[in-house]
Parts: sequence; C-alpha cells; structure tokens
Amino acid sequence: MKGPVPGPERKFRELKAEIISVGTELLLGHTIDTDAAYLSQELAVIGFDVLHRCTVGDNRGRLAESLRQALGRSDLVVLIGGLGPTGDDLTKETAAEVCGKHLVMDEESRSRIESYFRGRECGESQWKQAMLPEGCHVLRNDFGTAPGCLFRSGGGCLVALLPGPPSECEPMVRHVLIPALRRYSDSVIASLMVRTFGIGEGAAAERTADLMQSENPTVAPYAKESEMFLRVTAKAANLQEAESMCRAMAEQVAARLGHCVYDVNTDGSSQSCLEQTVVRLLRERGLTVSFAESCTGGLLAKRLTDVPGASSVLHMSFVTYANEAKHQLLGVPWELLEQYGAVSEPVARAMAEGVRRVSGSSIGVGVTGIAGPDGGTPEKPVGLVYLAVCDGTHTWVRRMNAPARFKSRASIRFRAASTALDLVRRCVCGLPMEEEPV
Ligand code: ATP
Ligand code: MG
Repeated sequence: MKGPVPGPERKFRELKAEIISVGTELLLGHTIDTDAAYLSQELAVIGFDVLHRCTVGDNRGRLAESLRQALGRSDLVVLIGGLGPTGDDLTKETAAEVCGKHLVMDEESRSRIESYFRGRECGESQWKQAMLPEGCHVLRNDFGTAPGCLFRSGGGCLVALLPGPPSECEPMVRHVLIPALRRYSDSVIASLMVRTFGIGEGAAAERTADLMQSENPTVAPYAKESEMFLRVTAKAANLQEAESMCRAMAEQVAARLGHCVYDVNTDGSSQSCLEQTVVRLLRERGLTVSFAESCTGGLLAKRLTDVPGASSVLHMSFVTYANEAKHQLLGVPWELLEQYGAVSEPVARAMAEGVRRVSGSSIGVGVTGIAGPDGGTPEKPVGLVYLAVCDGTHTWVRRMNAPARFKSRASIRFRAASTALDLVRRCVCGLPMEEEPV
C-alpha cells in the first residue's frame, strides 16, 4: 500500500472558510475590522482558505441572510461580535435559530461571569452571555465575560462565534479557536517574505515569472513604497516540511533578484524593514554610522532608532537644513554651497565626509534634496535628492529623482531615507553601489 505522497504534489483537503463581522459601527467605518484581518491570517496558517468575508450591521434579518448564504458554500463560518449583554448583541440568538439549535445555560460560563462580577453589581442581562447552543464546544474567554463557541450547523458546517473587542477576540483566536480547529485540517502553511529594494515590480516579475507559476509553494508579489516583496507560501502536512519547502523556493527567488534582496524573513507585514537589516548588519560587523540629513529632517535617524538595539550602531545624527549649519557643523565648504547649491552631488559628498569626520563613525551618510511641493526649478526639480555614503576610503553618491507628479513630500522623504539605508547596506556588504537596472 502506498503511503501519503510527500512534498508539493500531495493534495490536501480543501477547507473553505468565511468570516462574518457583525456590527453597525464597522459598516459606518467608525471601527476598522482588525479582528477579521487577524483571523484570516491565523486561519491560513492552519490550512483554512478564507474565501469570503462580509460585514453586517446589528440586524437580525440581514445577519440571518448572510449566515444562510455562508453555510451553503463554506466548511467553516466564523461570526465576530455581538455576543455581549446588550440589546443589539444578537449574533448568538440569530446563529442558533438559523442553525437549528437551542440555547441552553452553560453552568461553567455562568459561574465564570459570577466570579468576574464578584463584589460588583451584575445586571440580569449578563447571564444572557452564558446561554450557548446545546452541545457546543465552549471557547473560554479569559479576557472578558462573553464566551465564544464552536458547533456544527444542521447541514454539517462548522460555526464559530467570537466576541468583538480585539483585546478578547485576538487572544481567543490564538489560544482557543485555532487549537480547536487544527484537527479538522490535514495541512499547515508556512511563509517567507523575500524583501527587495531598488528593483521594479516589472523586472522582478520577469525574473521570477516561472516561479510565480508554481502551485505549492506559491510566490506572490507585493509592491509598496518603492519596495518590492515576494511572499513564498507552502502547504504541507507538517510545519517542518512546509518551512523547508518555503526555504528552498525563497532561495531560488532570492538568487534571481540578486543584490536587491535585503532580507528573507518570516515577518508577513508589508512594511519596510530595511532599518532592521541595517542595524543587524552594522552590529554583526561592529560598525557605527552617523547621519547628516537635510531634506529627510531626521527621518533617517527616526527609522533607525525605531529598531531596538540601534544605540549600538547609531552614533549621532545632524539635521542641517540651513547652509550655515552644513558649513558650521559638518564643515561643508562655502565655495561648494555657493558654486553648486545645497542640493548637489559635491555638497552631499561633503556632508557624508564631514559627518564621518566629526563623529568618528565607521560610516557617514549625507542626504540633501528637494522634498517639495515648492522649491523646484527646471534644473533641480522637486524629488531630486543626492545621497552620499562614506566609509573612510570611498565616498559614493547616488542621484535619486522621483518624478514630482507621482510623489508627495512624504513619499519623497521616505524613499530618500530608504535609499540611504540601502546604500549603507550595500556599503557594509561590499555590494555594487550603482542603481540596479529597473
Ligand atoms: P461586548 O461584550 O463588548 O458587547 P461583543 O462581542 O458584543 O462584545 P461588539 O458589541 O460587537 O462585541 O463590539 C464590542 C467592541 O469591539 C466595540 O468597541 C467594537 O467597535 C469592537 N469590535 C467589534 N467587532 C470588531 C472587529 N471585527 N474588529 C475590531 N473591533 C471590533
Ligand atoms: Mg456588544
């Protein structure tokens, strides 16, 4: 008899999940549905594919309608919110009715509510929270009063109810719901993020086109704020296998993208983490850095000091906006400022060399540019930034020119700080300092 097929060819049970978030405040946009976003990520990890997500107000009829539709097409439906004691909390009553269940008092939940309120006034309405669908698996709430529950509808669909407050919902998902659901799934997923800077989406897609066709692991691109991430996700029978499939694919992806790859990590967020990489690289090599910032106004130092442990690598940072400051603090010669202007290659170079000299750091960085919206000229348009990095032997200068019509002041500054961080990375790793072909 053949055993299960190992590796990417193996087929896993398909588990379709749907999330219904309940609350008029969500529909009005007063509250952002962070619970569903969190739950989606956690369900994916244990092999449930979230195929639909919807939001309904605190309305019995419309909630029942959404739930019926979900039951007809999903293996798991999770309803979030509306489990509390007030009149508009009607999720449980509606779900029980639609799924053909009676609500019965769960004595353990009742006594938990009782001890929660010991010594304080507890209205009659609180007991309503301990009424749960008969025969359900109670999802204990150690973070508030309303327990959640998991049961099967008449038609065999798994239905879970969770309270709305994120301080209750998130830990319950992590500690109670996910462990309870694991046994229904025969797979887990693992993912890795290949993080790049300085390569365009088109070029990255071209170089990895064949890998993006792969079904398991999958490779999916995300572009954000001048960075490009490729998420590699593998499904396998166990985590170890999924992780090793991911690693193998991430290595292939990284090899195609070369020096633009600044990190491969398990952090799934689409935020830049260039600063973390730079801090790590400098620490590993025992190097220090100092900044001389003009148009970024301290953003570079801010981003680096967002990373715990930055104190061991960042020596000092100057915000030298005025020419006098560039001259007095960094020793930028007046002749350069007068002849080329503050936003120029020679001034960026002199800022980097000056701050390195003044600070005694291993690496000096200078940034000068025009963040706009005013101050641009035909020769020096808004978005023009010169960035220089000096390691004591060499000074490299990069000219960055973001087209003004696409770029806000905030994004020019962010991109300039990212480019400076990437130049530091390249400098400490001995990589080419020129711009990669986009
Ligand atoms: P409670 O016992 O507090 O009434 P509940 O389960 O009845 O909890 P709701 O009344 O729907 O939940 O919402 C309680 C709080 O949680 C509100 O502040 C609401 O804005 C917030 N909340 C509800 N659903 C979500 C969600 N999906 N994402 C983020 N916050 C939510
Ligand atoms: Mg409520």
